Amino acid sequence: MKALAYLGLTRTFTVNQLILLISIYFVAVFNFTFVRGSLTAIVSLETYNPFFLLSVPLLLLALVVLLFSLLSLVFVKSVFKPLLITLVLLSSMVFYADVTYGVVFDYGMIQNAFESHTAEALSYLNIYIMLFLLVFAIFPALWLLKVKVNHQPWGREVGQRFKLVILSVSAIAVIAYGFYPNYAAVGRNNSALKKHLIPFQYLSSSYKYINRNYLSEPLVFKILDESPQQLPVLPREKNVTVMVVGETARAKSFAYNGYEKNTNPYTEKLQLLSFANMHSCGTATAVSVPCMFSALPREDFSKRKAQSQQNLLDLARLAGVDVLWLDNNSGCQGVCKRVNNKRIKPDESHALCDGDYCFDEILLEPLTEKLARLEQPSTLIVLHMIGSHGPTYYRRYPKEHALFLPDCRRSDIQNCSQQALINTYDNTIAYTDFVLAKIIKQLTLLPRDIKANLLYVSDHGESLGEKGSYLHGFPYALAPKEQKHIPMLWWQADKQVLAEKSCWQQLSKQAYDHDNIFHSMLGLLNIASSTYNQALDIFSGCRTDLRLTKISGRDGWW
Ligand SMILES: [Zn+2]
Repeated sequence: MKALAYLGLTRTFTVNQLILLISIYFVAVFNFTFVRGSLTAIVSLETYNPFFLLSVPLLLLALVVLLFSLLSLVFVKSVFKPLLITLVLLSSMVFYADVTYGVVFDYGMIQNAFESHTAEALSYLNIYIMLFLLVFAIFPALWLLKVKVNHQPWGREVGQRFKLVILSVSAIAVIAYGFYPNYAAVGRNNSALKKHLIPFQYLSSSYKYINRNYLSEPLVFKILDESPQQLPVLPREKNVTVMVVGETARAKSFAYNGYEKNTNPYTEKLQLLSFANMHSCGTATAVSVPCMFSALPREDFSKRKAQSQQNLLDLARLAGVDVLWLDNNSGCQGVCKRVNNKRIKPDESHALCDGDYCFDEILLEPLTEKLARLEQPSTLIVLHMIGSHGPTYYRRYPKEHALFLPDCRRSDIQNCSQQALINTYDNTIAYTDFVLAKIIKQLTLLPRDIKANLLYVSDHGESLGEKGSYLHGFPYALAPKEQKHIPMLWWQADKQVLAEKSCWQQLSKQAYDHDNIFHSMLGLLNIASSTYNQALDIFSGCRTDLRLTKISGRDGWW
């Protein structure tokens, strides 16, 4: 009984008291990162007003009280308590991601959360997160469920709530009046801090996402080029281009880019060209994948816009290229919607799969099948890997491929030693290298009249504890370089093409990003299109095999 009284379960709260208590909990616990960051930023100023310092948690409290007060007016009494419980549960998960991985739930992350499949979400489950959620989510939620609330008649409740709204708005106004210039200055220099505001950040991002994707009128599908043309290949000659879309591979961990461990032991003798200065379009799959296949440059990119216009695969198919997308990841993000595609099922009965995931070697089976039956003069096969997807890096490679030991065989990666974590990640890179070597081996076995080439490019990078950051998905402008600097490799069968070594070496040192992929792929596929921009085609500078054919009425393509 004493314990119950201590927990407040023997007394009855008014709705106003409940709102105040929950708001204090939100400010003190879930906004820990925001409050700590703000206070640190203020005390590091040369001079600061101590009242300004004190006003930060008070302002936040007033904002949270205002939010809950308004919600209590919108939602009827039977819904309000479940709504608070839901917000506590969601906020605790967002808070966990924030304090453990430094991940914030802005628009890009919300998009990623909505569009990733459940196996990915489940891969975060571990004892650590369960204990965390027990303390910060389950106990408070149970308390909310059990506590008695005295609901007054509707009219009186509105009056009570009105008082709380007036109180919080007055507090906000007084603080704004007293410290506006201070807030403006600190806010401008620390704009990233607002992304840690819980629940404001994830609620507004979710609203934006739902509004954009479910409530807005779909855009009219835009035809960028109604007649892209496949330039003629030599008689009896066929082309096959394999594009491997990597997952979460960062440039820094590739031996090709100067990494001290040999993470590329399988392809090192295969004469691949590594582009060491390549950057991604986004820091999450849901942005980078559609972006690299889109004609839209990064600055102008939006997924909605990209989805409502032709992409690289649409143009290739229209030009007569046989396009096939094979997916061992969470899907093609809408990119392969209008071309042949196959998603690998993680069937437990297969030696390479465990029911949730398959190792990337699984892609070799449908690839072999396709290569045995190349029907069109030109074929494009896109292999979408699961690559180095975290946090369960150890599930990306078979045990016998653990080249670097000890590795970290758990999902709460922050509890592994830095050494083990890096080893595990490096194993995923070496395994990707192994799969790439296998693919190249298959391409070298093709008949001589089939010209093959392979382009490997990652979707985004990964943080592995640098400056306390883990995983990926940070807002682009603020993301650490490890999340944006990605590997890109090119291999092609005809050694003559790489004969002009100095030219290629020169080329591979220049800076590129995902904006180059669309145009470079059109170039590799020999497709003439009004969407093609030679200045952005990485390979055009050194290729001697480009057929500079001019098609009537379409001068100057190449
Ligand atoms: Zn990704």
